[in-house]
Amino acid sequence: MQRIILHVDMDAFFASVEVMDNPSLSGKPLIIGALPGERGVVSTCSYEARKYGVHSAMNIKKAYQLCPSGIYMHPNYEKYKEISNKLHSIWCTYTDCLESIALDEAFLDITNNFKDFNEARKIAFEIKKRIKQELNLSCSVGLAYSKSAAKIASEEKKPDGYFEITSEKDFVNLIIDRDVRTLYSVGKMTAEKLKKYGIKTVRDVRKNSEKVIDILGKSGRFIVNLSSGIDERKVIPHEPKDAKSISREITFQQDVDNVTFLKDVLFLLSICVEKRAKRLGLYGNGVILKVTYADMKSITRSKNIPSSNDYLKIYVEAKKMLLKIKRGPVRLLGVGLYNLSEKYMEQLSFFDTLADNKVKSEGAKKRLLLAVAKKYGVNLLPYLDKTHLKGNLYETIEKMRSKL
Ligand SMILES: [Mg+2]
Repeated sequence: MQRIILHVDMDAFFASVEVMDNPSLSGKPLIIGALPGERGVVSTCSYEARKYGVHSAMNIKKAYQLCPSGIYMHPNYEKYKEISNKLHSIWCTYTDCLESIALDEAFLDITNNFKDFNEARKIAFEIKKRIKQELNLSCSVGLAYSKSAAKIASEEKKPDGYFEITSEKDFVNLIIDRDVRTLYSVGKMTAEKLKKYGIKTVRDVRKNSEKVIDILGKSGRFIVNLSSGIDERKVIPHEPKDAKSISREITFQQDVDNVTFLKDVLFLLSICVEKRAKRLGLYGNGVILKVTYADMKSITRSKNIPSSNDYLKIYVEAKKMLLKIKRGPVRLLGVGLYNLSEKYMEQLSFFDTLADNKVKSEGAKKRLLLAVAKKYGVNLLPYLDKTHLKGNLYETIEKMRSKL
């Protein structure tokens, strides 16, 4: 089956976050890593600094020689992590199949969520627009049929770029005369080895495939396949053991203080949390509610619950917490499960059997979905899908909001 993969990569991430925090840095060569005179390397630099020849992983001493007028700063990982969490919450409104590569970079497999490349292209631009609007940051997005192709596509038009590679043929045509290191997994050492045999470009790999396999063995076969555009590697969502919580949140394009609407949004978010938890085979022992008000003040509330990953349990608890907090225009609403475990912890009372709840919960879900759909004139049937987030959660909620 044709896969649809997005690779999203923030442009000069650390530097851009610093500029966002302190706009007087805008337009200046900014180098994040270490201060001149200290030992260290450049972790990121602004595009203005790149004009001086400075790049990531360069020694600070060398950077200073090239760009003595630059502004040098230590990285502030706490700050970047916080923004990274916000990025992830935007990305995961489109798919649960999200592989995080770095704080600022991820693969999104949206094959199960969107129909074709045309729909996917709209999503790519929507993601770019939301990151700009909600975080005032720019990113580059590659749309493609494989991870390698998506990664190369996102680099193609950096910064603030978009590019797509929808077939193996297009992939090969694009990179055939590039250095072998363009191919995923080919590093400096491998490139050196191949160079001894006169193999320098992707074209050389294609012409000498037997030789490449001779020299490199199994990894040679992988590289030969890549040179023909074949890359079957899957987008691998986070391993369950890494997960501390599973949450979904949404930033509204305009602040909302309609409690009924907020409850309806909680309902949809709870369904998404349920899907994610079920796919990972995880149960939560607590429900968390997060609200950011129009003045950017955030609050979280949490409640311990008997082991569950049922949307109804999540929704009911989150709703109770929502009704207890201060009223006011809301900018962001989120809900999640925490204290995750891979085992369902039996805590059944005489009246409260699992099977009973399951039937109740599934029936209620359909009824509630149809009621909410009717109220706002939106299609919520895709949310009935048990395992995949089908449909565009962000678009759905914005459509609902526009009906207020
Ligand atoms: Mg980046």
